[in-house]
Amino acid sequence: MTRQTEPTGHVEIDGEAVAVRVRLNPRARRYVVRLDPRSGHVVVVAPKRGSVKRALSFAYEHRSWIAARRQERPSPIPFEEGHIIPLRDTPHTITQRPEARRGVWVEAPEGQAGLARLCVSGRPEHGARRLTDWLKREARADITARAALHAHALGLPSGRIQVRDPFSRWGSCSSTGTLSFSWRLILAPEFVLDYVAAHETAHLKHLNHGKQFWAQVDRLAPQRSAAEDWLRVKGPALHRYG
Ligand SMILES: [Zn+2]
Repeated sequence: MTRQTEPTGHVEIDGEAVAVRVRLNPRARRYVVRLDPRSGHVVVVAPKRGSVKRALSFAYEHRSWIAARRQERPSPIPFEEGHIIPLRDTPHTITQRPEARRGVWVEAPEGQAGLARLCVSGRPEHGARRLTDWLKREARADITARAALHAHALGLPSGRIQVRDPFSRWGSCSSTGTLSFSWRLILAPEFVLDYVAAHETAHLKHLNHGKQFWAQVDRLAPQRSAAEDWLRVKGPALHRYG
């Protein structure tokens, strides 16, 4: 499959020139338009004998569908001054502290109505990167602690932990016993992070989703169904941040 990541053209939707990426896929049987769930880009998949020109007019024909999907999509929240992001499900205001040299730290709210602050030191243009790195370290520390407890409960040594940014899953377990997690779990409530840590740790014993596996998960994380509900309903919005 030929993948083109640069926009191939534009269609005008409600007076705005919207970039369209055309992907030629020899296995596609017809034109399909969709929104890339991660980037929000408009993508037209074109079949073997398709053309970019036809793909762009296909996008234009579906402009009202595209406009509706774009409306539904939550707007991204960059890691910049004044934006509010959840940390362990508690809202924090990002505050740049260019004069400080302390990395990233949390300050308690001022007064009862205020929000806690997530303070980022150093040059503002490096703030997003610094905050992302810090959130990944926090995620790794929390996940490692929870996974170690669950491994101990199973009588197993702790698995190797990786923290990444996958789009479609919150955690995974490789056949070699490496547990991978999304750093975005640090944005979710602790019972959710704990459930995902328990789930992947249970795979060290059962590398499947069989009955015994689920029974094991339920013993480690009795909050499973609440956590699964939370991830289904609120999980997708965690990809807005950063
Ligand atoms: Zn699983």
